[in-house]
Amino acid sequence: MTAEDDRLTGGAGSAGGIKNVDAVPPGTPDAAENLCRRCAGTGTVEDGECPECGGSGKVLTPVGGAG
Ligand SMILES: [Zn+2]
Repeated sequence: MTAEDDRLTGGAGSAGGIKNVDAVPPGTPDAAENLCRRCAGTGTVEDGECPECGGSGKVLTPVGGAG
């Protein structure tokens, strides 16, 4: 018998994993690319490719420039 203990790591709680709560879908007016907060613009997290930006290091967020 093998005594291997494969654990599934639910990767939502990694250190420094901040979600881009203000991210908006592509095509949103008055939105611009910003550095992904989760991976700090690197495009990668501990688990591999950043799920927030898809590895691009950038997310689309609204530009709050009223005036
Ligand atoms: Zn990212």
